[in-house]
Amino acid sequence: MSRYAHPAGPRHAEVLPEENPPTPPRDLMGLDPRVWPATARRDETAGGELTVGGAGVRRLAAEYGTPLFVLDEEDFRRRARSYREAFSDAEADVYYAGKALLTKAVVRWVHEEGLKLDVSSGGELNVALAGGMPPERICLHGNNKSQAELARAVETGVGRIIVDSFDEIERLERIAAERGRSPAVLVRVTTGVEAHTHEFVATAHDDQKFGLALSTGAAAEAVRRVLACEHIELVGLHSHIGSQIFDTAGFEVAARRVTEFLTRVHREHGVELSELDLGGGLGIAYVSDDTPLEPETIAKSLLAIVQRECDAHGLAMPRIAVEPGRALSGPAGITVYEVGTVKDVEGIRTYVSVDGGMSDNIRTALYGAEYTCAMASRTSGADPVLSRLVGKHCESGDIIVHDLYLPADVRPGDLVAVAATGAYCFSMASNYNHLPRPALVAVRDGVPRTLVRRETEEDLLRLDVG
Ligand SMILES: *Cc1c(COP(=O)(O)O)cnc(C)c1O
Repeated sequence: MSRYAHPAGPRHAEVLPEENPPTPPRDLMGLDPRVWPATARRDETAGGELTVGGAGVRRLAAEYGTPLFVLDEEDFRRRARSYREAFSDAEADVYYAGKALLTKAVVRWVHEEGLKLDVSSGGELNVALAGGMPPERICLHGNNKSQAELARAVETGVGRIIVDSFDEIERLERIAAERGRSPAVLVRVTTGVEAHTHEFVATAHDDQKFGLALSTGAAAEAVRRVLACEHIELVGLHSHIGSQIFDTAGFEVAARRVTEFLTRVHREHGVELSELDLGGGLGIAYVSDDTPLEPETIAKSLLAIVQRECDAHGLAMPRIAVEPGRALSGPAGITVYEVGTVKDVEGIRTYVSVDGGMSDNIRTALYGAEYTCAMASRTSGADPVLSRLVGKHCESGDIIVHDLYLPADVRPGDLVAVAATGAYCFSMASNYNHLPRPALVAVRDGVPRTLVRRETEEDLLRLDVG
């Protein structure tokens, strides 16, 4: 049967899928510690069931239903701590980028681990405040912050506002003046650097909605305008270059361009800006081939790059900030699904359909993201079979994992788990096909705790007023 992997690799299979499928893993039941949460194990006393934070997925599924987002609290906290410690020798701030995953409990963890918090809408700001983050430890992003969002940020005393347009500078000045406040701002600049994984491009122009371009003079004009404002205080610059970045070469080019600009601001306006926020985008391992950098390596490298550039220009080293999002929450989360149907498309592959899909993980459809999936409710000694994990939505692009190997005896009622879904899955979830959004449960020391309860069909109808 062609869909069975040949032990010598996919090239020896009878029929080749058009694109090269991955080679089957040596141990189909293995849990690569770089991909799975820190506390993920197989409980051999329970048929090899997957456990996270000491809780078995069968119990979790029975108690909370599927699909289910399970968050390893210990894993999240360790990653937060390692980022804070990595940057603790320097004048530096670590902001957790809340858009990756934000709930009141997550806000508490971030605060308890000594991090600050980056939000990018009024809704996220609301969660941050409800979760007890002191406003001065919050920074607010967004390319189109509303009047109401800016007003709330100014009134609550949010620590930093990252201004992103001329309209916003004007709007913010008026709001600050009316309230007799003087919010501290950073100007978001685009450096022409766009980085993904091991590659980056450094272009001359910046064709995107975020930021004010260094190359066109927009950034210089923004700085001039903010300095001319009476009620807003310019403290620094912000640059965010991409996502899922595995090396610091892109940061190097961006930091060089920003530092040159700091020099220019100093020369032209006589102000030495004291903060430089280098944004987020630090990569994680979604699959075993991904090779993310350790926080310590990132910290050393970023600080050295900025120090070198500042030395070269005779500037004092600014206070550095970074904004990791997925690097903290991504690897801490898994999604548990129940298999509903198994369809063997003869000679091609097996389609394994689960009870969620693009409504709880849009990243595969949106970005062609890769994920790792494993049998979760039990182990199996069956041969690996080339499979595709798909959802239940009315859309053929409703794919969660394009190519993966599952044991050939996978059957309805099995639980499978997808790793590294802690970032941009729950936060991007939708109600497509009127599927209620899954619950989000945290586990620690064997104790599960609901962070966000599962939606019900009544929840969805409640907003439909007829
Ligand atoms: C999205 C974003 C982040 C976080 O990105 P990750 O890839 O999750 O680290 C940080 N800062 C800004 C400005 C962002 O837009």
